[in-house]
Amino acid sequence: MTEISRILIANRGEIALRIHRAAHEMGIETVAVHSTADADAMHVRLADHAVCIGPPPAAESYLNIASIIAAAEIAHCDAIHPGYGFLSENARFAEIVETHGIAWIGPKPEHIRTMGDKVAAKKTAGELGLPLVPGSDGAVSDTDEAARIAEEIGYPVIIKAASGGGGRGMKVCESPDKLASLMKQAGSEAKAAFGDDTVYIEKYLGNPRHIEFQVFGDGRGKAIHLGERDCSLQRRHQKVLEEAPSPVLSAEDRERMGETCAKAMRDMVYRGAGTIEFLWENGEFYFIEMNTRLQVEHPVTEMITGIDLVREQIRIAAGKDLSLTQEEIQFTGHAIECRINAEDPFTFAPSPGKVTHYHAAGGMHVRVDSGLYAGYSIPPYYDSMIAKLIVFGRSRDKCIMRLRRALDEMVIEGVKTSLPLHQELIEQDDVLSGDYSIKWLEEWLKER
Ligand code: ADP
Repeated sequence: MTEISRILIANRGEIALRIHRAAHEMGIETVAVHSTADADAMHVRLADHAVCIGPPPAAESYLNIASIIAAAEIAHCDAIHPGYGFLSENARFAEIVETHGIAWIGPKPEHIRTMGDKVAAKKTAGELGLPLVPGSDGAVSDTDEAARIAEEIGYPVIIKAASGGGGRGMKVCESPDKLASLMKQAGSEAKAAFGDDTVYIEKYLGNPRHIEFQVFGDGRGKAIHLGERDCSLQRRHQKVLEEAPSPVLSAEDRERMGETCAKAMRDMVYRGAGTIEFLWENGEFYFIEMNTRLQVEHPVTEMITGIDLVREQIRIAAGKDLSLTQEEIQFTGHAIECRINAEDPFTFAPSPGKVTHYHAAGGMHVRVDSGLYAGYSIPPYYDSMIAKLIVFGRSRDKCIMRLRRALDEMVIEGVKTSLPLHQELIEQDDVLSGDYSIKWLEEWLKER
């Protein structure tokens, strides 16, 4: 057992606040780190201590391992929570943290490494018994071999970067004549973005949903699942609105697939929070990747299970047991999360700047995770997501009614935001009926 009494939060924005809140509710102190651009940020204001770790560019601050470790040592932190993005899936950082005798609130570095390489992840997932998208057996560099594989699985195929992430490094190929050039393009784009030109090939599924399972392991062979999230409403492979449970899964499917995922995590002896992502088409699941961190959309799972996932992460990092068994987990009602970005709601052009007025929605079963306040200036250097609105209802219909009401209450002025997009989205028949795939949002935007 490791005593955790002071956590360094190696992140910013709403997720830094989220971690701070869980820590304080457990009686644990927090240390915020921040770039010079974030000196006035809410996570810095709320934390017990704050350390400036560098200039605005993330590479020199939130990704600066030496500065963050130095901050942890100076501020006598006994644990580090990385949040999502930035260093959260950097296995080397996790190793460095542990080498310094600081508890890493995350999975074992070797699991972060394996799952961070999509080729290795797919191989591991297959060995653990997770159903895969048909495709190449590992990396492909030879175009003749690629052509043979593509012929075998059938066009269209998708060429994906082994080191890809955030929806980047993917090319859809419709026919054999384009394969060689798209492979070359995917490889060089991947090299530029991730420093690794390894690519692999997968069948491109026509109209799937994105359904992911939340898992948790204690690092000693016990693991549970917390059901699924449906994240099919996407633009450019980026999630826009997420819900739990998925409108299309039956309780039996949930139990069967959830147990398959939990068993995989037991066999892996996985530690901490993880998400196993699948595409779902015609009732079949196809593994695409595993994220070895907390996800942006974790609150919808919290809403329907009543479990604080960050608290659970901290407990496990301290060497404690999972606080619940699988049998004790109950799914109640429905939750939806809207990601609110500082951008034009329909052209998606970024809109950083000063927030002149701010009012968060409230009331029963409404949660706003955000570092916004009136007078705050959204810096242009980081991700455009500035708030998450999460709403719970006893049924999906009631949840949507409440979401509509909550969206009407939210006020963010001075910058453009995605609020109008969400307001329009939840009036669409397909969204109301839950009848949408990962293609739906882009097609709707095109016609709008
Ligand atoms: P990233 O790590 O960049 O998020 P993923 O492998 O999770 O990449 O894929 C992101 C999204 O890309 C998926 O949610 C889905 O919309 C689309 N996608 C990925 N693989 C396929 C596939 N084989 N067929 C169709 N769409 C895919």
